[in-house]
Amino acid sequence: AQQEALAKAHQPAITRDGKQVSVFANIGSIADVQVALASGAEGVGLLRTEFLYLGRTSAPTEEEQLAVYQAIAQVLDQQPLIIRTLDVGGDKPLPYIQGVPETNPFLGCRGIRFCLEHPDIFTTQLRAILRASTGHNIKIMLPMIASITEVRAAKEILNEVQRELRQAAIPFDANIQLGIMIEVPAAVAIADQLAAEVDFFSIGTNDLSQYVMAGDRNNPRVANLTDALHPAVLRMIQRTVKVAHDAGIWVGLCGELAAETAATAILLGLGLDELSVNPQAIPILKQAIAQLSISQSQAIAASALQLDSAEQVRQLTA
Ligand code: PEP
Ligand code: MG
Repeated sequence: AQQEALAKAHQPAITRDGKQVSVFANIGSIADVQVALASGAEGVGLLRTEFLYLGRTSAPTEEEQLAVYQAIAQVLDQQPLIIRTLDVGGDKPLPYIQGVPETNPFLGCRGIRFCLEHPDIFTTQLRAILRASTGHNIKIMLPMIASITEVRAAKEILNEVQRELRQAAIPFDANIQLGIMIEVPAAVAIADQLAAEVDFFSIGTNDLSQYVMAGDRNNPRVANLTDALHPAVLRMIQRTVKVAHDAGIWVGLCGELAAETAATAILLGLGLDELSVNPQAIPILKQAIAQLSISQSQAIAASALQLDSAEQVRQLTA
């Protein structure tokens, strides 16, 4: 089955009733991008940039980062490359940043919170991303957004960086899109306000599940609760997609849930425009999409939202 799926992996994923869903890859290195394209990825929906910052004694320079982003963008040519800004802090401290230990790192200063606290690190990354964007289809994505003030603060820094580059006559894509991860319940609650500020959403179900269900994503004792197929999480996805589409922006999903074939019909039924998964999962995901129709998927999603547990949802779609 894997072999058969791989043979068709380079065709677009179109449902039986004609809706095309973008299938992108989650990657975390330069080498990954080759694997992603060989597996049929139509772009990169999530470049985790933490690898550039971890396991070293100083922050990566603008030139170092530029070289990496350019290398990846060159392989992708005009296919989309969504670069997520640094998502460290809390459980992944950087040795060269003096941090205050936190008792609850997952509820602490991670993601965009960390970057706004360290504008020097944030600015350097944004400069590198913008410089790499010339002639490619790069988009910027902010992690862990919980408040509109964070988006505005990040945009202010982005605008300042763009001003500086323009002044220095350094080229960049002036129409570069800015999106945010939807992975904190607060972001779902204020999704209408956030949609007015950005070009796209990408739902991060790994974190959204743990924050919605108040369960550590790495604690097996609460795994039945933090399962992203829980109807409580599915309802958050439903709301996010609806609000995004009402506002006229596109919305993808880049958590592990997108790679689960038990979830494909539900995610299509909820209206997601793009799914981003680990490269290995792409052929089977594309095959699953081609076997479904949107109308049938909408019915499955509607049923799933009314169930009692993730277990029941799994039984429904098995
Ligand atoms: C997520 O939270 O779903 C996500 C894609 O980001 P990460 O797994 O890197 O936290
Ligand atoms: Mg996350």
